[in-house]
Amino acid sequence: MTISRYDSATSKTAKKNGVANGASFRGAARTTERRAGGSSPRQSRAAGPRPETTLAQGGGTVDATTGAIVPPIHIATTFVRDADNQYRRGYCYGRSDNATARQVEDVLTNIESGSGTLLFASGMAAATTAFLALQRPAHVVVPTAMYWGLQQWLEDDAPSHGLDVTFVDAGDHLALRNAIRPNCTRLVWIETPSNPIWSITDIVEAARCAHDAGALLAIDSTVPTPVLTRPLTLGADIVLHSATKYLNGHSDVVAGAMVFAKRAAAYESAARLRRRMGSALGSFEAALLLRGLRTLHVRVRHQSASAMAIAEHFADHPAIARVLYPGLLSHPGHAIAARQMQGGFGGMLSMRIRGGEDAAISIAGRLKVWKRATSLGGVESLVEHRSSIEGPGSSCPSDLLRFSVGLEDVDDLIGDIEGSLASAASDSRPSRSRSPSGRKRAQVRL
Ligand code: PLP
Repeated sequence: MTISRYDSATSKTAKKNGVANGASFRGAARTTERRAGGSSPRQSRAAGPRPETTLAQGGGTVDATTGAIVPPIHIATTFVRDADNQYRRGYCYGRSDNATARQVEDVLTNIESGSGTLLFASGMAAATTAFLALQRPAHVVVPTAMYWGLQQWLEDDAPSHGLDVTFVDAGDHLALRNAIRPNCTRLVWIETPSNPIWSITDIVEAARCAHDAGALLAIDSTVPTPVLTRPLTLGADIVLHSATKYLNGHSDVVAGAMVFAKRAAAYESAARLRRRMGSALGSFEAALLLRGLRTLHVRVRHQSASAMAIAEHFADHPAIARVLYPGLLSHPGHAIAARQMQGGFGGMLSMRIRGGEDAAISIAGRLKVWKRATSLGGVESLVEHRSSIEGPGSSCPSDLLRFSVGLEDVDDLIGDIEGSLASAASDSRPSRSRSPSGRKRAQVRL
């Protein structure tokens, strides 16, 4: 199998009684008035509860036995058969799924406007399952700008699983269309905004390219979350989330999710693999994830607003070569992002620091409010020198710092970066003893 690269230039009333009886908002059809990025989408009230309501109430379920508004955690690994040898209650063994996870799956299906969701033990377990579930031989098209861990798997491991992988600049429609092989390509994978440079791919256009060739479109939508983008309403077939990030939002659960537009072959095949490979999410993690999801809208909107303020504040800073954030007018993908993201442009941004790798690492090292750690999407703000963690072979620019904006006061976050830049600038000026004349103003070197 080959790996090739195309490097182009670069119920209204939510079934009221259903809620009271322990049913959920599951399956409510919904329509959304679409607005450009920066304003919030509002749903037609006639379509059923709005996503905020579904999320805040964890799906709207009230425990049928106790009336508890927070559901119990189902930890049983095995379930009793009926006397006539049937499993009518839908549960058999804990490796297939569990009732706590199913509740989260229903919430995600609802807010993504899908038909079914599968939760996994990590985002990587979910993503790799999307590829492994394909019928072979399989050609897949994936972006050059994407989450590094999955990119490595696609480069190093996917070929030995019978997957023929083509990397392409997915933001270039022509290159994307040329990379797809009609009746041969089974899956087109995109990520938008893409980690860590936040390039934008037009979802509607990518769906058209994929479907014209008989392929499915899958989107890693970890960063925008369903609060800002709902890819299934734009033509995608599968949505992937590292639920470790914004969906959980508290940096205390590793989880993944795949939401499907249709409960068809791709869903069934992924569910079978998850069962056979034992990669379902455990019930404790699912319960924590449900708790995190209850505040998803509030967190993501706040984080997006803060990220925008930070991006604008530093856009013209002399020590920053470039701020990468799709909310900025200067971002090449801004117009498309404004079309397909509602209510904000996400909580992730990157800055390229003048002075290169050493300067970037030095700036990160002086930050006090921002924590130097990998991952993203939590309530606490994180900064990371991405090429350090990606290591040799990383295509991430070595002068790039990635910022995951949390819920702290935005002025504290901006002030911390300002302080770090100022301290680095002052350290780089020759001291009087090193520069006896002291007349010439030292060049700021960052
Ligand atoms: N997708 C994106 C955009 C990510 O950032 C990550 C992890 O950083 C993943 C997928 C993989 O998720 P996980 O770490 O939950 O396996």
